[in-house]
Amino acid sequence: MEFYHGNPQDPSWLARISEFHGHLGPWLVVGALVGRDALQRLKTPGHWKINVVCWIPSDRQRTPFSCMLDGLQASCGATTGKRNLWVRNSAEVLADGWPVVHVMRLPEKDRPLEGITYAAKNSLHDWMKHVTDERIEEASRQLARAEVAELIAISPMGQREFAWCGHDEGRLGEGETT
Ligand SMILES: [Zn+2]
Repeated sequence: MEFYHGNPQDPSWLARISEFHGHLGPWLVVGALVGRDALQRLKTPGHWKINVVCWIPSDRQRTPFSCMLDGLQASCGATTGKRNLWVRNSAEVLADGWPVVHVMRLPEKDRPLEGITYAAKNSLHDWMKHVTDERIEEASRQLARAEVAELIAISPMGQREFAWCGHDEGRLGEGETT
């Protein structure tokens, strides 16, 4: 695996996630785009204030797909160490076979629980097919400049989505991490 070749033109967040992860790749960027967008939309600083569930089919719970977990961790602050980032698999959630991310802002005294679903669109899947190892950093930089909503379907979470994430019975994350 190549290490990150920093470019002075890289925005600081891109350099930060690449240093954290150890290289600059497209799925890392996807995770960071989701994490950054979620903090903005949910108006939260992230970290302890959110829960994140990243749904990945079991046959894709490997690199490069799993690189998105580091993008999420480095961008929104939900981490496996804090036990507020989970990786799960579900045929129901993953109807089209590609990763789905749920970001939930925990309820506070003046704001109820709120969450957003991120599901990659076909345009992102098609784009990924053309990324070769030789141009992985260049392609990732291009992705980092993309309009998130053009590549990823963004929708508010409803009762069904909260139930998937265990937020209906307060059992989120139970038995998920060791
Ligand atoms: Zn990676």
